[in-house]
Amino acid sequence: MLKKIRAKLILLTVGSTLLSILLISFIMNIAIFHRYNRYLENEQMQAHQDIIDLVIKSYRLNNGWKSDAIDIINFSPIIHNYDIVIKDDNDKFIYEHILESSMIDVHNEMMGKMGHAMMGRDHPARTVEEGNYTVNKYNLVIDNNLIGNIEIGSVGPYLISERDIEFTRGINTSIALAAIISILVAILLGIYSSRIFSTPVMKITRAANDMRRGILDVQVKLSDNTVELQELVDSINHLARTLNQQQDLRKRLTADISHELRTPLTILQSHIEAINDGIWEATPDKLNILSKEVSRLIKLVEELKYLADIENHHLELNIKRINLSILLQEVADSFKYEFLTKGIALRTSITSEVLVEADQDKLKQVFINLLSNALKFTNKGGIADVNLTTDKDNALVAIKDTGIGIEVKDIPYIFERFYRSDISRNRKSGGAGIGLTIVETLVEAHSGKVYVESKPGEGSVFTVLLPKVSKSTYD
Ligand code: ADP
Repeated sequence: MLKKIRAKLILLTVGSTLLSILLISFIMNIAIFHRYNRYLENEQMQAHQDIIDLVIKSYRLNNGWKSDAIDIINFSPIIHNYDIVIKDDNDKFIYEHILESSMIDVHNEMMGKMGHAMMGRDHPARTVEEGNYTVNKYNLVIDNNLIGNIEIGSVGPYLISERDIEFTRGINTSIALAAIISILVAILLGIYSSRIFSTPVMKITRAANDMRRGILDVQVKLSDNTVELQELVDSINHLARTLNQQQDLRKRLTADISHELRTPLTILQSHIEAINDGIWEATPDKLNILSKEVSRLIKLVEELKYLADIENHHLELNIKRINLSILLQEVADSFKYEFLTKGIALRTSITSEVLVEADQDKLKQVFINLLSNALKFTNKGGIADVNLTTDKDNALVAIKDTGIGIEVKDIPYIFERFYRSDISRNRKSGGAGIGLTIVETLVEAHSGKVYVESKPGEGSVFTVLLPKVSKSTYD
């Protein structure tokens, strides 16, 4: 249970809230207790002063320590909580008020309650036995004349009333109430925040499990806009899409490979059987057909090997500064004859002296593949253009044809290995769908890019972009 995100988050929120409440109430208790004690001490001092004022007033009213003056003091309620001894200026005993022992007990009980209310436990320092009873002695002076002195004895540095205890108890009740409310809020917050995290995680887990079972057309939708979660969901969706595409490609690939292998093998088998059975004679024509099929098989295997090599990072580039203009012209020239025999015009428009840093053979392979596609997918009477231009940083090679074109749905996949559009599949000509994969891998190995624009029935343009080297750096 505690291993779940939800439980962990709730525990974390409640735990941290509880800790904050404990800390705050502890600090508040100390602060309030301290301030409140000071307040009570001041009250005590004020009470002493009130008693002194009363005594002086009584003395004044009666012009001396007469019995009426003593009565006024005796009946006044303010002396109630104190031991009082008044002596005249000759230290002769005038008046005494003895605090009832029951009052001391009451006071001690109050102190105990107070300590309990403030600190949640009895306060051990507040007892008479431990010297909490104090006596303060004051001179009684009227118009600079000493008329006597007064000793006021009281329990503790201050007096505590039920009201005081109620006050501190009230504070503690409020803190406890705040704590309960905060914990409830923390639990709700914990549940809410855990939902924010656990719901998407559960959705992603479900999607991942579906993908594990082979259901790849899953897409997770998230209503929450948390950046990190959104990124995670995007990655999972991308993964599902890619796996789905790869699965389609793999299915297509298996079908393609078996088709590619079966066709030449069937032709070879039937021809050899016919010759073997004496139905056919092994004439040069017949042998030529067999040889062509064998060549097709060899080419396919070689392309597969080449692709496997470059995809397994066995691609070693022999980088040199080369003149792309010359290289492109050479490749175009080598195709002249084949285009001519197929009745397709091959035109070139090549900017001279365009320099690149590249592996000459690999780059040649790129243009050979693109030109053989232009040748393969263009019908008699069509035109193929080979252009070389430059912009500020790059050399741009465009190989354009007026061939069969590529459908929009196929364009994203034609660089995938073994991908062939349905139109090209139905044509007798055509390879195994590896040529463009090789082109893309080689161009990217040269820090370049290759992209295509095409319209079915109108033709295609393949553009290769390679970082160029300026003449001055070349020199
Ligand atoms: P292939 O060996 O089949 O030519 P590629 O990888 O070179 O394999 O090309 C993949 C697919 O892209 C082709 O089967 C074809 O459908 C499409 N394609 C490539 N070049 C052209 C082009 N110039 N015109 C029309 N379709 C093309």
